[in-house]
Amino acid sequence: MARINDNFLKLRAGYLFPEIGRRVAAFAAENPDIAPQIIRCGIGDVTEPLPQVAIEAMHKAVDDQAHRETFHGYGPEQGYEWLREPIARVSYQERGIDVQPDEIYVSDGAKCDTGNILDIFGHDNIIAVPDPVYPVYVDTNVMQGNTGEAREDGSYEGLVYLPCTPENGFVPEVPQGHVDLVYLCSPNNPTGAAATREQLQKWVDYALEQHAIILYDSAYEAFITDPQIPTSIFAIPGARKCAIEFRSFSKQGGFTGVRCGYIVIPHELMGKDAAGNDVPVSKLWSRRHTTKFNGASYIVQRGAAALFTPDGKQQTRALIDHYLGNAKLLSDACRQVGLRVWGGQNAPYVWVQTPQGMGSWELFDKLLHEAHLVITPGAGFGAHGEGFFRISAFNSRGNVQEACKRIIACLGK
Ligand SMILES: *Cc1c(COP(=O)(O)O)cnc(C)c1O
Repeated sequence: MARINDNFLKLRAGYLFPEIGRRVAAFAAENPDIAPQIIRCGIGDVTEPLPQVAIEAMHKAVDDQAHRETFHGYGPEQGYEWLREPIARVSYQERGIDVQPDEIYVSDGAKCDTGNILDIFGHDNIIAVPDPVYPVYVDTNVMQGNTGEAREDGSYEGLVYLPCTPENGFVPEVPQGHVDLVYLCSPNNPTGAAATREQLQKWVDYALEQHAIILYDSAYEAFITDPQIPTSIFAIPGARKCAIEFRSFSKQGGFTGVRCGYIVIPHELMGKDAAGNDVPVSKLWSRRHTTKFNGASYIVQRGAAALFTPDGKQQTRALIDHYLGNAKLLSDACRQVGLRVWGGQNAPYVWVQTPQGMGSWELFDKLLHEAHLVITPGAGFGAHGEGFFRISAFNSRGNVQEACKRIIACLGK
């Protein structure tokens, strides 16, 4: 008898994006003439082509594979040195942040990493997650058996939820009690909020005091425009002893379909074994990574490395500026009709309060049916997301301009 992992049965069936897909497909089927006009500002996927440097580097890398002299088979599981070195230099050291190439583990994306990291932690940790938040953190903990059953509002027994609200600017505050692992995501998906140095310092101080580890997702780091906002948790003194950072080329370089990310684990970061002894977290992750992963594709790593060249940096900047320009237009349109708006400045997401206390799925249906516009209902990201919605700025400029007109026409009435 093959027994399954029963924890999977605790997962709530009506997951956010399938439900959005179902409603959009139903509307499109009933209104075939309107269907082509639907504008999707829902799922957080990039829309614009890759930077030209990445395209050229990957073409060349394919050609390398055609000749015995330049052919590459299995590479180092941790990633090629020629990618880890520019990551450490450009993304960290040139900004005064101490991260070494051998503390970087290249992967096929941050989603896998944020889920896989649980392999190296025990089952009796107290785990805190912001609410609302990127659903992957919660669901992977459910699969791992780190939670109890789901409640009515979609939250799970056994997790500590950190409410993100207008009062705290959607940046979670340190809890009163003890936790062992805490997920932070800044700039945030879905709220677009970016934590300040002072806010992050409080988290680092808390983690050091509690011997907790911060799992810091900075997949949207490249969207930070405010020079006061730290781009890495390791910009905060003490963080090297209490944090792991997750990064991705998906949103930064448009790599959602190419697949490349990395994680940073400082040498000093320790966890405890059953006897209370310190164990370097990097040692466990290295063992896990080299056992269960055979390295990101050579071709893809060549593409990622090209983003760190002078041309690559410039092209990446242009791509990000395009999306941030979209975010500004969308924010302005929502403000114009009197809505309360957050995010959109250091992130490609605009987070908006629904008008007149409308439910977030109700607003989703209204925008779909009346404006033929798809947004993401806040409730899908956690109980505290109810009463808000997310508009993604990942789109063409033309679509965003049209989406703004429709928002104003539909919600400005
Ligand atoms: C998009 C996203 C990622 C990146 O995932 P990849 O697997 O690298 O594409 C990670 N974290 C958050 C919060 C995201 O929104």
